[in-house]
Amino acid sequence: MPRDSQALRRDLIVTARSMNGLGINQGTSGNVSARAGKGFLITPSALPYDKTTPDDIVAVALDGTAKGRRRPSSEWRIHRDIYAARPEAGAIVHTHATFATTLACLGKPIPRFHYMVAMAGGDDIRCAPYATFGTQELSNHALAALEGRKACLLANHGMIAVGADLESALALAVEVESLARQYWQALQAGKPKLLTRKQMAVVLEKFADYQPD
Ligand code: 13P
Ligand code: ZN
Repeated sequence: MPRDSQALRRDLIVTARSMNGLGINQGTSGNVSARAGKGFLITPSALPYDKTTPDDIVAVALDGTAKGRRRPSSEWRIHRDIYAARPEAGAIVHTHATFATTLACLGKPIPRFHYMVAMAGGDDIRCAPYATFGTQELSNHALAALEGRKACLLANHGMIAVGADLESALALAVEVESLARQYWQALQAGKPKLLTRKQMAVVLEKFADYQPD
């Protein structure tokens, strides 16, 4: 196995453990992947991240063929479909973060209530309709909700964040969870005042050359 691939396997595990450590996921929920060659590497299904070793990471080709001693995450279709449709996607983080999931259980997208919503690529963070976990139907819904966006909520389930690399996908997942918490909190106190589309367009333009180091 090339050294690169070993390093990437280790980075996947670090990212998966970080999701739980940062409080944006729990247990064996969620999954993480990174593009590798013509396919991607993904966390195994139902294995606690603390017990996961580099050899447990599964290599999946874009046709769905999996190579490894474990079964790939049950959501490999979502990861595969995003890599196939979005050439800029280098890594994907899926979590069951509490506040994002709270909104997703209400079927509520995150609207333009805060300018940082633009970090996800547009005016809002959509909520994909519900479908059973691990199904092609859920993947289809997720891909549609991600159109023109780098993140979305999944109804009655969680969220997805897409990045150029693992670090940026994880950072976006943390941001989406903060926004979900702020929006939820604002909803408790009243009716959040939304920014206008024009105000968001200004932010989106500024973000085009605002890339965190
Ligand atoms: P896996 O353990 O199969 O990745 O499933 C976790 C999950 O979040 C399913 O949506
Ligand atoms: Zn999930």
